[in-house]
Amino acid sequence: MAGFLFDNMVFGPVFSRRLGVSLGVNLLPLDNKYCNFNCVYCECGWTDNKQGKMILAKRENLKQQLAEKLKEIQGTVNEPDAITFAGNGEPTIHPQFAGIIDDTIELRDKYAPNAAISILSNATMLDRPKVAEALRKVDKNIQKLIRG
Ligand code: SF4
Repeated sequence: MAGFLFDNMVFGPVFSRRLGVSLGVNLLPLDNKYCNFNCVYCECGWTDNKQGKMILAKRENLKQQLAEKLKEIQGTVNEPDAITFAGNGEPTIHPQFAGIIDDTIELRDKYAPNAAISILSNATMLDRPKVAEALRKVDKNIQKLIRG
């Protein structure tokens, strides 16, 4: 199934019924979906984790891009209600997920203090202590227990 992929690490903001004005963060490859599930309804399409080398968001680049975007929309109608980890697959499989959450909290506090840090996750990495600890710092922790 062909799917839709986000072509940037930081995308939107978009309006979400659940989250309001939501600035998206994609930690996964820009040219391929990367997930440990393969849900038939996935909007990113079919999972094929063997397709070449997966290039994930680099922590420092992401921090810079997120800071620039938050500064750009600060004080405008696009100031976010949420900074949401979603994108081209499962965000918690990024090896630097915990550090990236810390960076995001720092930037949120500085540029968008009213934004809730949110995540859409498939809950498969909850047994990893570092991931679980990072998720406890997230304001809207949307874990879907699903089976592909
Ligand atoms: S868990 Fe999410 S990203 Fe992964 S296949 Fe299912 S819907 Fe797609």
